[in-house]
Amino acid sequence: IERTFSIIKPDAVERGLIADILKMITDSGLKIVGMKMLHMDKAKAEGFYAVHKERPFFGELVDYMISGPVVVSCLEGEDAIASYRKLMGATNPAEAEEGTIRKAFGVNLQNNSCHGSDGPDTAKTEVAYFFNEDELV
Ligand code: ATP
Ligand code: MG
Repeated sequence: IERTFSIIKPDAVERGLIADILKMITDSGLKIVGMKMLHMDKAKAEGFYAVHKERPFFGELVDYMISGPVVVSCLEGEDAIASYRKLMGATNPAEAEEGTIRKAFGVNLQNNSCHGSDGPDTAKTEVAYFFNEDELV
């Protein structure tokens, strides 16, 4: 059993897609073991995406992530990290497979509706970046 970290990004929250995305997550067999809605400030978003700080799109990515509220959650299941990445689909919605969150709801490469941790180390770090131990069931 494994845990991963998820964000329903501002473009999806703004379009009223929280319930649709959570339904896809739970229908896939992943269990929600922590969840909250919040609006990140600049420092929080810059810290979260620090690995991308040298990338040309970093500034726009941060602006987008603070453009509105997001829903963060901790998901648990068998191979949760890989299975949630698969459910999200390719980073670019135009390349995402049928049945994935990004295919269904993503707008473009940046506004791609969701985030999921890419490995065990980032999953741990990212969960801890948003949740205290007593906020996880
Ligand atoms: P995430 O980390 O959000 O789960 P990912 O791991 O599929 O997505 P990353 O390469 O980690 O993709 O990029 C992080 C986020 O930065 C992407 O989800 C997307 O919102 C944005 N992004 C990535 N590449 C580009 C790009 N070339 N132009 C604009 N935005 C981008
Ligand atoms: Mg990533």
